[in-house]
Order: sequence, then C-alpha cells, then structure tokens
Amino acid sequence: MKRVVILNDLKESDIRPDLGYSRYKELLAENIRRYFLAQDCLLEVACPGCGATTVCRHFLAMGLRYCVCGECGSWYVSPRPSQEKINTFHRESTACKFWRADLVEKTAALRSEEIFSYRVQWIAGLVEEFCPEASVLVDRGSRYPSLLTQLIRQKLFSKIALLFPECFEQEAFLPREADILRDQCPQAYADVFVAFEQIERCFDPGAIIREAAQVCKPGGIFVLTTTTSSGFEYKVLADQSPNLIPFDRLNLLSFEALLGLLNKGGFRVVEASTPGRLDVEMVKKTMEKLPASSGYDLWKYIFNYRSPEALHSLQEFLQQFQLSSHVRIAAVKEQGSYEQSR
Ligand SMILES: [Zn+2]
Repeated sequence: MKRVVILNDLKESDIRPDLGYSRYKELLAENIRRYFLAQDCLLEVACPGCGATTVCRHFLAMGLRYCVCGECGSWYVSPRPSQEKINTFHRESTACKFWRADLVEKTAALRSEEIFSYRVQWIAGLVEEFCPEASVLVDRGSRYPSLLTQLIRQKLFSKIALLFPECFEQEAFLPREADILRDQCPQAYADVFVAFEQIERCFDPGAIIREAAQVCKPGGIFVLTTTTSSGFEYKVLADQSPNLIPFDRLNLLSFEALLGLLNKGGFRVVEASTPGRLDVEMVKKTMEKLPASSGYDLWKYIFNYRSPEALHSLQEFLQQFQLSSHVRIAAVKEQGSYEQSR
C-alpha cells in the first residue's frame, strides 16, 4: 500500500483566516443550539467505525457530545441530527452560508493552488496507474466549483457528474460541462468516485462507502479525504483541539476503522496517506494560548526550545508514519464485490 509525503509548507491562516474562522465557529455554536439542541431532534447512534456501543470517554463541544469508541478509537457525535436535518442545516444555516460566502471566497486562490491542484494531480496519477481507460468521474457532495473547473481542464474524463452537490449559492459557478445528479446515481457508472470531506460530515459513513461500491464499476477507484481521530492534533489536544467542530466533524474515524470499513465494503485499499501539513503548527498555536498549568510538558518544551527545522521534521514524521489528522485514501473496487456491498 502506497504512502505519500508532501513537503512544502502551508500555514493554517492561509486557508482559515483567524477572524473569519472565529466568526464561523461563533455562528455555528449559535445555529447548533437553535436547529438541534432547542428542537430535541437528535438520534443516538452506535460507533460508525465499528458498530460498537462501548464508549470509553466522552466530552462536549458546542453542546453536542463526542463519544470515544472503546473498541476502535473513533470519535463520533451521539446523539446526532438525521441526514435530512444535516442537509437543511448545510443549505440554510447562517454559519454554512457565511462559510461559503466569506471563507471559501477569500481563500479561493490559495485553496486552488495549494489544495485543489494536489487533488487533481493525485486523481490523474491514480487513473494512470489503476484505471487508464477511465471516462466517468462522479464527485459526491461537491463544494468547490474551482476544483471541478481544474479537473475538467485536465481532460482526464469524458463525463463528470456531481452527485448531491453542496454548492448552493455558488451553483452558478459550477462548470456547465458537469452533469448534476440530485436524486441518485446509476449503478456501476463511475470509473472514479470521489468523496472529499464527506465521511466526516455525514450521518452514516458506512452508507457513503456502500454508495461508492454501488456506483463504481468493478476495478473503479474510490478516492476520499477525511479527518481522523488517529492524527497528532486529536491525540495530543483531545477536546482542546480548535478544530473539534461537531457539525463539520460528526465522525472522526480512526485510521484503522476507516481501512476496515473499506475492506468490508468490497474495496482494496491501494493508498492510505496522511499528507496533512498543518498538525504541528496547529498544536503549537493552541498550546501558546493554554495556561501554563495545562500540562503537555514534552510538547511545550519541543515547541519552545527546538528549531523550525525540528518542527518541520516532526511534521514530515507524522506524514511518513500516517499520524497526521488529514487522511487521503484510494481504494479499488474488487471484481464481483457488488453483491457483497449491498
Ligand atoms: Zn468503534
């Protein structure tokens, strides 16, 4: 199985400007109260990583409860809103509208250069290696029109279809060449099925994996990115992590649980990398704001007394040994696995 390391630096503030990100979190906390907590509409769920109900610890974030699975180490919000309520929240809440109007637009150029171009290169490499005859790409939950524009420019696929796009006010910016599928996708339709940042935000991650197995042709590739609880940021900071945002991160599956779900779903994982570039900076910045009595002595010592090169090496180490919080996976649908995945 392949592992990829990406070495150029990226600053958190580049893709999440401090002021805008704080405002987004304030709006989110208020919206979560109004849409979910005040309406008493939440549903208890078992661990989405392994199905267990053994919770070894839990904590609150924005009024919602994160459970840590005693079996597989995944973190998940339970009770949680239904998928229908999640969809309404994406579409209508002031927090999500702010995210799209303010943060995404302000960081569009940098996201395009630093994040989307990597994703396009990644897909191009996977197609060349595993599926050179590919003609159809399905992107689930598309949120970034500029990523799709870049993909179309590459001319890798004769058809690009957007399944349940989440662009809302920005739909006018979606490339005209892309088909929009709002209800469902034909079975065995896609050579490449893409789900960027979907597993962490949905009601049931297993349902997305089953959907990918049905939509992918045999031998097709399922490409996904998500955030994992096995990453440095969450392992070190736990509930102090500034990115523990329950609505964006309903499911932080452990690295192992994620691979297990894919294997069970009829996929052969061909790449599992954690090419995150922000973990060390994020943890360092968070610790600078915590009181001296907060612990973390080893990490504070390293951040205070070791050079930028040491911190750079630490981030490289995290990538190399699959310990960053940002994970990307490519998995090939096994021949004849459709029945198994139903
Ligand atoms: Zn579990």
